[in-house]
Amino acid sequence: MKIEKLLVEASRRNLTKEEAVALLNIDNKSDLFYELIKTANRMTREEYDNKAYIFSQIGLNASPCSKNCKFCSMAQSNYVMEGEFQKTMEDIDDILETVRQLVKAGTHDVFLMTTADYPVEEFLKIGAAVKGILPEGVRLVANIGDFDEDTAQDLLKAGFTGVYHIRRLGEGKDTDIDPARRIKTLEVIREAGLELYYCVEPIGPEHTYEEIADEMLRAREYDVKAMAVMRRTPVPGTPMAEKGMISACELTKIEAVTRLVSKPSRSMNTHEVTPMTLIAGVNQLYAEVGANPRDHVDDTAGNRGYGVIKTIELLQDAEFEMA
Ligand code: SF4
Repeated sequence: MKIEKLLVEASRRNLTKEEAVALLNIDNKSDLFYELIKTANRMTREEYDNKAYIFSQIGLNASPCSKNCKFCSMAQSNYVMEGEFQKTMEDIDDILETVRQLVKAGTHDVFLMTTADYPVEEFLKIGAAVKGILPEGVRLVANIGDFDEDTAQDLLKAGFTGVYHIRRLGEGKDTDIDPARRIKTLEVIREAGLELYYCVEPIGPEHTYEEIADEMLRAREYDVKAMAVMRRTPVPGTPMAEKGMISACELTKIEAVTRLVSKPSRSMNTHEVTPMTLIAGVNQLYAEVGANPRDHVDDTAGNRGYGVIKTIELLQDAEFEMA
């Protein structure tokens, strides 16, 4: 089928993997590239009523992680962070003050992130305390290692509304995690009724369009409301750094195709913040605080991470209204 026809049909029906791959093969310098981003932009502005969102993520620890993802600054096998720290309930006053500031500045969803080895009991206690100060309507999202049904129930009891969890590109090859374990956790999240936040990541130059399309379709299969794509940041000192990074244009194309194929019902994001994607279907950005697998400093807020104010400015500059 011709690409022009596919773009017309994208808002009317679900596209197949082969059709997603055909869209991903669009030449970034062609007129069709602009037809693609025009379509994604129109779908986002119309379907989301031109509303935009800020999600804020707090990294609670920086410690060598046993899962050894070859792109991560915190992998045990290639730890390149400046130092180590672990926030616990002893630091709860600081954590709550950070959350208050993020919410006051305009955050819609608060994410708490840890490495895979962080103790779940402590995470649940921190989550419950954070939930206690969140205004009604602000969602609380966990970004932690794999877990089973009991932990899913504990997350709900603590007040979490959702979980960020993905089957990474290169899972099991570039990480020490069996892809089946990631899928099992996705099933647990769905069964528990927690909202799943999904992302095609970490996209590098070596990933095929077929692999990338598989994750777009997986998100649609799980009926994901908040979707994202992320390009891999070549963190110096990590094994994957030498493979380099895809361009912002390529990321924009992948994001636009993901918007069309995955059909998230609330929001679309590109990570890290890439302003050109704001006219290609993105209506949600992340503000980041604390540890970050794509950074080497304890607090990414002063380095790679954007703050809430800056992300709101970018969204408003792209003529979105904050939800
Ligand atoms: S990406 Fe997550 S699971 Fe992988 S090494 Fe880093 S902290 Fe651990």
